[in-house]
Amino acid sequence: MLEAKKTQYDKSGPRVAQALERRHFAAYYCSTVSRAAQKILELIDPAASVGFGGSVTLDELNIRNALQERGQKLIDRRDAPREAWGDVMRRALTADVFLMGSNAVTEDGQLFNIDGNGNRVAALCYGPKEVIVAVGMNKVVPDAAAAYARVRHIAAPMNAQRFGGRTPCTATGQCGDCVSDDCICASMVLTRFCKPAGKIKVVLIGEDLGF
Ligand code: SF4
Repeated sequence: MLEAKKTQYDKSGPRVAQALERRHFAAYYCSTVSRAAQKILELIDPAASVGFGGSVTLDELNIRNALQERGQKLIDRRDAPREAWGDVMRRALTADVFLMGSNAVTEDGQLFNIDGNGNRVAALCYGPKEVIVAVGMNKVVPDAAAAYARVRHIAAPMNAQRFGGRTPCTATGQCGDCVSDDCICASMVLTRFCKPAGKIKVVLIGEDLGF
């Protein structure tokens, strides 16, 4: 990463964490991937059940493997056949801890997420006792309007490439504002305040991660 970008991340990250705290999120700024992974593992009680929302960032942090190695009880659709994914995603919403990424974070401390199945945004709103959100500083944007633009024009069209559904963005790389069966943009949720306080723990990472 360019040194100037890293310096900017390290100066801005703690300020974004403060803004999140003002909105009653618990927030931690970790300068590196390794520190972030360590922090997430510290935040999770080894006896807790852990549900997963799909997240490229969590994969880059290698969290799943680390949890498996210490014998954590995981509820992850990747361990089930595709026809059982719906049931597993529902069970994950009753986990002690739910792990996910975020599509954007505003400088004033709000989370913005888009979801095809609704399971990730459901966890943010209600369900698991704790939610841990891992997010790279590349997803920090000035405000809610910029968050919406980022998600519609960057995060969703990139994510669509992973899933390979029949959507305009899969074909062209750009959002076509579709209503196709394979649309991954069903729900858009702005989390402007964490209630109950501290339920959502945001680990901000001073590197470029995910989309
Ligand atoms: S084309 Fe459809 S699936 Fe793709 S980003 Fe736009 S609304 Fe989402």
